[in-house]
Amino acid sequence: MALRSARALLVMGLAVPGLPVSGLPVSGLPLPGLAATQDPEPPPAEFLGKLPEGGTVPMRLVFRKGLMLEARRLPKKFLLRKTEAPWIYFEDLSADGKKWALRAAFPDDVWSRDEVKHFVRHAELESVWLMASHFTGHGQNYDRLEALNPKNPEKLVAGDLWRIPRELLSKDLGGQGLAPDRSQPEDGLDDEARVKAYRALLSFDQDKEGKFAAYRLRKGEALWSSVVMRYTDRVDGKEVNRAAELIAKRSGIADVRSIQPGTTIRIPVDLLSDPFQLEGSQALKEEQEIREEVRRTPKLEAGPKLGGVRIVLDAGHGGRDKGAMANGLWESDFVYDIAMRTKRILEQDTEASVSSTILYPRLGFKTREDIKRPSDVAQILTTPPFPIDGESPTAVSVNLRWVLANDQFAEFVKKKGDPRKTIFLSFHADSLHPTARGTMIYVPGAASVPSTYGLAGSRAVRVKEMKASGRVSFSAREKVQGEARSRVFSELLLRELQKAKLPVHGNRAIRNVIHRDGKNFVPAAIRHNTAATKVLIEVANLTNEADVENLMDPAFREGYAEAVVRAVRAYYKKS
Ligand SMILES: [Zn+2]
Repeated sequence: MALRSARALLVMGLAVPGLPVSGLPVSGLPLPGLAATQDPEPPPAEFLGKLPEGGTVPMRLVFRKGLMLEARRLPKKFLLRKTEAPWIYFEDLSADGKKWALRAAFPDDVWSRDEVKHFVRHAELESVWLMASHFTGHGQNYDRLEALNPKNPEKLVAGDLWRIPRELLSKDLGGQGLAPDRSQPEDGLDDEARVKAYRALLSFDQDKEGKFAAYRLRKGEALWSSVVMRYTDRVDGKEVNRAAELIAKRSGIADVRSIQPGTTIRIPVDLLSDPFQLEGSQALKEEQEIREEVRRTPKLEAGPKLGGVRIVLDAGHGGRDKGAMANGLWESDFVYDIAMRTKRILEQDTEASVSSTILYPRLGFKTREDIKRPSDVAQILTTPPFPIDGESPTAVSVNLRWVLANDQFAEFVKKKGDPRKTIFLSFHADSLHPTARGTMIYVPGAASVPSTYGLAGSRAVRVKEMKASGRVSFSAREKVQGEARSRVFSELLLRELQKAKLPVHGNRAIRNVIHRDGKNFVPAAIRHNTAATKVLIEVANLTNEADVENLMDPAFREGYAEAVVRAVRAYYKKS
């Protein structure tokens, strides 16, 4: 639906310089903003908009948020949908409503066939970003507006004239509704080449606070996505905002709303992910070893029928554990459906031996077209089955996934199966910073996998598999191989997803560690997993409305499962 997509773009744009970052209710998502580094906000301008058929509507222009209108005074045809809210945003107006509201709010503007001449009226409240957002539909078109009005200062001055050509106007306003151009030269590269290209954009230096990597922000880039998510291991909303704040402060950026392309950003070295660490550092050395191992990793042949391959599918949540939640969606049922679709295709079309770690007993291993409400009964298929009923901590069911999988892999190897042809796929959907979207894949970073681990105490439960498979150990070699194989598979999966036009995370879609609460870690399901190849697939980002739209669509889930199966086939195919 166009409506949801337009809102999705708005939300994605949300966390980019210049757009409101403080709790815009459009997504129902409180976004921790960068308020700490801001000056006090100027109060909104309040005025009345004259309606064409007489009467007036109270309006406000709010700092960083844009135009707001009192809903009950608006004619129905000006509203996009029925609302109970007393005040609504400009984005919630119909095309007619938008055309009227801009003229009412900026009565000095001149609308002609070729362009809109916009005269800045509230210099302290308007910004080029808001202007782009209101008139073109995308705040990120701010650079286009700046390019078209080169003489104007970026800090707005009352009375200044900004020309907005007709074709740049949003579709609602009768223009072409051009989306901002955010593509970068690295977009087509594979992970290794891409990381190398990203590294080449950094230069290292030192100030009185210590060493930092300097990065010049390019056109269409934002601090959140193109700096924090790309160059650090932080991806979730809170962590990204916290790091962005720190980086903005270190870089002397007082106003994150208007970071211009070309601005130098200082990223403290201790925030950088391994591939971007200093020359000569241990972290960079390990990263290079893994890349070499990836190149050395031999391809295995299993034929198109995948004979002799053992696959364990894991839907990452279920039962009382619903996983991530945002935008009215929850993680568990949707990723279960993708896992079940993958299972069905593998069983129909291949000879691979396939199992699921989890079962929704009321549904069985079936797939569904509509997913209306959360299922609350699920069990891990240990002996006896372990219900995810909230009685035990979630960590127990998470750990049982690798315990069960390891037990099944051991069984497979005992019956003369090839241990190199074991693969574990865990399906998830995360709630990242809303600017992120598409698939992100986690592989077990060799440096973050412990050499030995055993379940004990409250994390252990009495199931048959625990006894034989509740302990694991990995040699240094096995850890490096585990990461390398998983990277090879991830690369193939990303390629298949892209071929099928399914969205993939924009900056680094393959990660080997997550940073949260001051710690780096690999998700447990793949951390202690003995499969030769093991990945955790974050199918979509629930805080991104375009991703949510996808997850709700059974055709997306089917297409996704098909891409996964094609990737498995490509993985077990020599050349
Ligand atoms: Zn999850």
